[in-house]
Amino acid sequence: MSAAETPDPGAGAAVTPAAREALVVPVTAEEAPATEACPGCGAVLVVVPGLASHHAGASPSCSGLFDVTVRGLRDEAAADVQTAGVLQVATDAYEAQHLLPGRPAAAAARLCLWVARGLDPVRPPEHTGRLADAVPRTLPVPDRWTTTVADVAADLDVVDLPSLVRSWAEAVWADWSGAHEELCAAVDATQVVPK
Ligand SMILES: [Zn+2]
Repeated sequence: MSAAETPDPGAGAAVTPAAREALVVPVTAEEAPATEACPGCGAVLVVVPGLASHHAGASPSCSGLFDVTVRGLRDEAAADVQTAGVLQVATDAYEAQHLLPGRPAAAAARLCLWVARGLDPVRPPEHTGRLADAVPRTLPVPDRWTTTVADVAADLDVVDLPSLVRSWAEAVWADWSGAHEELCAAVDATQVVPK
C-alpha cells in the first residue's frame, strides 16, 4: 500500500493534511530527507542544507544538535556553578565522542574525574592543558557508542537535562573501557586529584 492509499482518519479526526503529511513515512527515496552519519559518534541525522559544523570531527547536524541541546546551559553557566558543572560534563562527553585522530583524548580523561573518581566538575581550568599533555595519543578509540547527543535530545521532554548529561557521560566513559587504565593514569600524572 502506498502513502496515497493510506486510509483517511475520518472527518472527525483532528489531523490537518499538513500534519498528516509530516507523519507519513516517505515511500520513495526522492521524498526521504537526506541523512548522514556523524563521523564521530555515528548519530544518523537529517542533513540541514547550509549548516556548518562548529566542532571538528562532528557532522554539521550533530554539532548543531549539541549546540541547541546545551544552549540553555551556556546561557546560565556564568551565573550558576552547578549549571557550569553540567555544561562541563556535557562538553567532555561530546568531545570524547568526537576525537580527531592523533589528538589527545583529554575529554575522555576528564570523564575519569567526573565519573570514575566522582569529582565535582566545577574545577580550576588550569589543569586542562597539563591533562592534554599527559594523555597518550594512541589510545584505542571506541568504535561504537551506547548513547549520543541524539539520544539525549530525544529524551529531553521526559527527563531533566542534568540527569541526561550524567547518564550520557557514564555511558561514554563505559564505552571507553579499553583505555580506562591509561586515561586515569594521565589524570594521576597531572596530580589534579586531591590526595
Ligand atoms: Zn556526532
